[in-house]
Amino acid sequence: METDVVVVGAGLQGCGVALRLAQAGRRVLVLERSIPGAEASSAAGGILSPGVEAEPGPFHDLCMASLDRWTAFAAEVERLSGAWVGYRGGGTMEISVDDRFTPVLAGRAAALARAGLSVEVLDGDAARRLEPGLSGETRGALWFPGEGSVDPRLLGRALHVAASRAGASFLRGQVRGVAVEGGRVAGVDHETGRIPAEAVVLAAGAWSLQVAGNDLPAGAVRPVRGQIAVLDTRPPLLSRVIFTDKGYLVPRPDGRILCGSTMEEAGFEKAVTAGGLLRLLELAVEAAPALAGAPVVETWSNFRPATPDGLPILGPGRVPGLFYATGHYRNGVLLAPVTADLVSAAVLGRPERIDLSPFGPARLTPRGAAR
Ligand SMILES: Cc1cc2nc3c(=O)[nH]c(=O)nc-3n(C[C@H](O)[C@H](O)[C@H](O)COP(=O)(O)OP(=O)(O)OC[C@H]3O[C@@H](n4cnc5c(N)ncnc54)[C@H](O)[C@@H]3O)c2cc1C
Repeated sequence: METDVVVVGAGLQGCGVALRLAQAGRRVLVLERSIPGAEASSAAGGILSPGVEAEPGPFHDLCMASLDRWTAFAAEVERLSGAWVGYRGGGTMEISVDDRFTPVLAGRAAALARAGLSVEVLDGDAARRLEPGLSGETRGALWFPGEGSVDPRLLGRALHVAASRAGASFLRGQVRGVAVEGGRVAGVDHETGRIPAEAVVLAAGAWSLQVAGNDLPAGAVRPVRGQIAVLDTRPPLLSRVIFTDKGYLVPRPDGRILCGSTMEEAGFEKAVTAGGLLRLLELAVEAAPALAGAPVVETWSNFRPATPDGLPILGPGRVPGLFYATGHYRNGVLLAPVTADLVSAAVLGRPERIDLSPFGPARLTPRGAAR
């Protein structure tokens, strides 16, 4: 089959971009060495929270643009795939159970309000009226009513099906490198041989630098390990995402609560460690003491694709025909809808209202630096 665009990696970014390109009539081939969605995309908590994750500025604007698209994106993926993605509103809360953290929250609320962003400040009683499972020690909270969460495992499966039904093809196997001929992209070198294509979208998450022929500088993407522990509560103890200064709790409608997550420079070593679990379980019980009696039903770890400045890498590289959808670090689930729209628009050469330059790969190469 002839291919117009090859997408390397079938995580949320690769599948989302492939969906949009297929809908635009391009012949898209997604190359995935493992199972679509098997890596960071299915390990995530699924929190959709610009309020907690981003300071006011272009990155916050990008996160908000994606959050604004989430309701329609979830409905579209569900309609195309016939599968539920676990999208949940109800807001997110950032709580303080420690008097030393309460002024930090107040400072954040003031900064967000000055920037015109929407946040409500709650005292401890008001926070517990919304979430009775929270600790009696809760001193106060910020509530971001427009935020929510999604179940990344369900989303990864559904997005894969949606992209396939829209016409994208998927092929298992390792991509060794981007093939460049005459100064522009000619396709990729796959374990089965050369696959010619006019354009390549690199969406290989934390492994993006291992794909030869990328034109990113050394250190542009690195793995930051995150561990998760899942507790089971029946009936469900919480109904919305809770952040503390130590991590977060993400409740699923069936009563499972994900406790996350560590931030570790551990290379590509996948492991759930005693120290990691200890921190997660401590933060869980501190925020919601009834969790001390909840069974731990699952644990895992995976790798956030982190960049030196914490921003994603989106849009064209230097080599004509090469595009990036990587480096989403802690917010790749939140940013999946806007990434799909913006990176596909860049491939198609269609203008978009959002300026991609703060997120372009060129920002990572110091001016005048040898490459
Ligand atoms: C513990 C944890 C919690 C998180 N929580 C949240 C959260 O609550 N909210 C949020 O928004 N984000 C969260 N994230 C971040 C989010 O998961 C990532 O930013 C996002 O999943 C990145 O998507 P991706 O498609 O770029 O990467 P991945 O899902 O890692 O996909 C990359 C794919 O490329 C494939 N690949 C790599 N190299 C090759 C190759 N050479 N050939 C073929 N295939 C290749 C891999 O097998 C993989 O499937 C979390 C991450 C972690 C680890």
